[in-house]
Amino acid sequence: MHPIPTRARGIAALAHRINLTRWRNSHQFFFCASVSARNYHGSRDNTAAVVVGAGPAGIAVVGNLLEHLPADAGKITWIDPEFNAGRIRNYGQVPSNTKIGLFLEYARALEPFREIYEKSPKQNAIRVLEAMPKDETCSLGYAGDMLRQLTQGLAAHERINKVTAHVVTSERQSDASNWELQLQPPRKTEAETLGSVTSPMVVYCTGSFPTKMQLHPDLTKNGVEQVHLDTALNPPLLAKELVRRQDQDITRVGVIGASHSAVLVLMNLVKLAQTSRPDIRVDWFARSPHFKYAEQKDGWILYDNTGLKGTAAVFARTELDGNKLLTSEAGKIITRIDCSGGLEKEAATIRSRGLGCQYIIPAIGFTPRPIPGFASNNKPLFNHRTGAFEDHAGGLIKGLYGAGIAFPEQVTDPAGHTEYAVGFWKFMRFLRRVVPEWVAKEAR
Ligand SMILES: Cc1cc2nc3c(=O)[nH]c(=O)nc-3n(C[C@H](O)[C@H](O)[C@H](O)COP(=O)(O)OP(=O)(O)OC[C@H]3O[C@@H](n4cnc5c(N)ncnc54)[C@H](O)[C@@H]3O)c2cc1C
Repeated sequence: MHPIPTRARGIAALAHRINLTRWRNSHQFFFCASVSARNYHGSRDNTAAVVVGAGPAGIAVVGNLLEHLPADAGKITWIDPEFNAGRIRNYGQVPSNTKIGLFLEYARALEPFREIYEKSPKQNAIRVLEAMPKDETCSLGYAGDMLRQLTQGLAAHERINKVTAHVVTSERQSDASNWELQLQPPRKTEAETLGSVTSPMVVYCTGSFPTKMQLHPDLTKNGVEQVHLDTALNPPLLAKELVRRQDQDITRVGVIGASHSAVLVLMNLVKLAQTSRPDIRVDWFARSPHFKYAEQKDGWILYDNTGLKGTAAVFARTELDGNKLLTSEAGKIITRIDCSGGLEKEAATIRSRGLGCQYIIPAIGFTPRPIPGFASNNKPLFNHRTGAFEDHAGGLIKGLYGAGIAFPEQVTDPAGHTEYAVGFWKFMRFLRRVVPEWVAKEAR
């Protein structure tokens, strides 16, 4: 175990008081640890920390809190509707943009993770990654399996209360010492509420979702269908979704954007057209014919977070970039539609050219999920250096923290570029720095 920072010991005293109340409900807590939300009745009592979200960031937060919260500080309540590797569960067939070695560094970064590995059966997901070449990339399915292994191990830990639920509100209690989170069952159809959980420390790791796009009404009126980015990143689902219409020889698909995800979607469409669906043609709506690539420098990576990497980078460089479409295999399927010249011109181009498409796939980035319970005009402001939140007057909001793709660290590279650090290993690196600070702050 990492040594416990001296100041952090204060939190033990705080949590001891909490425990006296919680003790009465200890049996209820015990049962809560592994049952589904359906059986999880009544309001919960105080807990030392609540982590919301079980993607790679939530898993890393739970591991770091186990290392840094003193053992007698009380339990960590961990909430997610699925406990299934976060958004990565949808991207099993997507090639990773990071190397296998970095997934392994994540899996080995913390003592609680190493203990899970030691206790796992010989055949396990981390072992599978270990047998693969560390400098290569892999399908994200392997990384998802590793996350599920860690999730299972953490959920079985005696200090974790796993709660299968959605958090729907977060409110400071009137004496300001605790947050109260209201819970609902994982399936929205179940009307019952699950009561609440209270804690002095809450960490939101609730991720981001593909940015939605309102198609021009003329497009929808003409039957142009929008395909969800998650579907487009899954080749079998994409093939099913793009139904060939009987009256048309060509199935024309518009792809909007030039992000990492957009390149992956273009790759999927080209492969589909080259194999089972020769009817597919693609209009690719992009502002520039050029891409930005991550570049390995001496001990650091230029555009580490915003440049293309891995398979997507190779495909963009060889098939799409600049004039490549004139001669590449992808150029037989894809036509680039120039969307430079500002937002108005772009919207007009998408409207006019989009009318010739049967399907449109927006791949225009990801939007952070808002923290439940805050009005959109009163959102707490995330401090990308500390992981804490501030109010609009610049004051610290006590006990509220964030991590992951929705709440990333801001980093500056040696060339002076500032970016948000997104990726399993980057979340871990950030959390190893800030979680001890959070625990110390809460102990004051
Ligand atoms: C296409 C793609 C490829 C990527 N490839 C890589 C890669 O190769 N390597 C890499 O390191 N990173 C990669 N990333 C980046 C990043 O690691 C992932 O986006 C990752 O899923 C983000 O983790 P997260 O934990 O922040 O959020 P998520 O994985 O989105 O997890 C959020 C969790 O919070 C839960 N949640 C949300 N709201 C609530 C609520 N109200 N109550 C309870 N629970 C809630 C969700 O159910 C979910 O389980 C990729 C991202 C994308 C989009």
